[in-house]
Amino acid sequence: ADGAAVPALVIGSGYGGSVAALRLAQAGVDVHMVEMGMAWDTPGSDGKIFANTTAPDYRSFWLRTRTKQPLSSFLGFPIDKDVPRFTGVLDAEEFAGITVYQGRGVGGGSLVNGGMAVTPRRENFGAVLPTVNADEMYATYYPRANTGLGVAHVDPAWWESAACYQYARVGRKHAQRSGFPFVFVPNVYDWEYMKQEATGNVPKSALVGEVLYGNNHGKKTLQKTYLARAAQTGRVTVSPLHRVTSVAPAAGGGYTVAIEQLDTTGAVTATKAVTADRVFFAAGSVGTTKLLVKLKAKGQLPLLNGEIGKGWGDNGNVMCGRANHMWDATGKLQASMPTAGIDNWAAGGAFAEVAPLPTGIETYASFYLSITRNPNRAAFTWNAAAGRVDLNWQTAWKQPSIDAAKTIFDKINAKEGTIYRTDLFGGSKIWGDHLTYHPLGGAVLGKATDNYGRLHGHAGLYVIDGALIPGNAGVNPFVTITALAERNIERIIAADF
Ligand code: FAD
Repeated sequence: ADGAAVPALVIGSGYGGSVAALRLAQAGVDVHMVEMGMAWDTPGSDGKIFANTTAPDYRSFWLRTRTKQPLSSFLGFPIDKDVPRFTGVLDAEEFAGITVYQGRGVGGGSLVNGGMAVTPRRENFGAVLPTVNADEMYATYYPRANTGLGVAHVDPAWWESAACYQYARVGRKHAQRSGFPFVFVPNVYDWEYMKQEATGNVPKSALVGEVLYGNNHGKKTLQKTYLARAAQTGRVTVSPLHRVTSVAPAAGGGYTVAIEQLDTTGAVTATKAVTADRVFFAAGSVGTTKLLVKLKAKGQLPLLNGEIGKGWGDNGNVMCGRANHMWDATGKLQASMPTAGIDNWAAGGAFAEVAPLPTGIETYASFYLSITRNPNRAAFTWNAAAGRVDLNWQTAWKQPSIDAAKTIFDKINAKEGTIYRTDLFGGSKIWGDHLTYHPLGGAVLGKATDNYGRLHGHAGLYVIDGALIPGNAGVNPFVTITALAERNIERIIAADF
């Protein structure tokens, strides 16, 4: 409520925010979470909370009047369509050189993501977070994060025969025939539930392709894990459809946090101010960094240092499809939860997730999201004339990612006598190089903050989300974001509260 005072305010309810809220509450601290997206706890008139990937509707996109699907065309036909403007679950946020996809709602990215829960290889960790003690991460915080998130492997025997993973078995065959390691990757989907979907005993979710616009069943989102436990403490309140616009030192100590209440058209229906002793920025790499860049430039948080806004990367994301021969059908039934990838990180700087293309028809296509070693880093800056934060990423900066992905797929195509699909990204583009699912950085650990996420310049302000990670995690990022948040909040609670 307007005028309230709270000991700890958390901006955003994704991975970093959920870890912070749970651990603070368990330590006896009352927490208020402010989330600009919806609660996603109420079904629509079709009885479902979320829309299907193949039939986006008003629930699917954050404040757009036309969908912006990651695949813009299929078999030469554009697939985007008009939708009513609504505070939907997936944001396709457009900057000059890149579209950044993000989850919006209580649970953040966990509502829309593929659930791939990857702990980076120990030997690669030093390149991910060079200032963090790897022994502690692998002994304590990665295990804690994996447990908290409910991470599990698919049953290999079931996977070998399940119709819905034919596409992944084709992916394995092609990887292995070209000599690439094929590795299984754990997920947060409830595998027993998926088996029940396959036998027809329960309402289907992954097996009807639900993922990008939310899963109605089966996926262990943060709503079912960290946030459920946080609610059980009785110390955490969550305000959905509330957006933080400012944080500034308060006269009597602590911070004044300005908040806008939104309706489902995105209109501001009220503005509120609360005071908080401590504020945790957990609005995601883009959300946190946009706030900090604006607040520093406009003088609300003038003492933030010159690292704010820097070190942003796209985790080297690039997509592509391959056209298979008729004898390599990938299946008209494809589980929306990926289970595996092709690991050419050491030799070629690419880890390619064997991704579903859940169209409901046989496509003879293999589809991949590659995570690559891309050294390019962008910066966010305040554009005073336009009153917004800009990002200077350039589309051409994806070239190192394309080159790395080609170390895998040129070889597979040569071996199999196949070609790239050119009908997925508009025009005759081969590479999905216009987007990222994995924004990282902008308030990098050890640079904009100390080695535990305390912002330099203003005591009592913390960054605890993907903004801390310097642009690339080498693998899908949410386990690392969660583990780092577990590490940092433990220290912050012990030393600062
Ligand atoms: P987020 O989870 O983004 O949470 C930030 C929250 O803050 C959001 O809910 C947002 O609405 C809210 N917010 C922002 N600004 C404000 C504000 N001003 N006021 C109030 N609230 C605000 N990662 C994996 O590891 N494995 C995968 O399989 C995977 N698949 C993905 C698929 C898709 C389609 C997408 C989009 C992402 C995927 N990711 C995946 C990435 C992963 O979801 C993100 O890395 C992760 O969610 C980031 O966590 P976070 O805590 O930094 O922020």
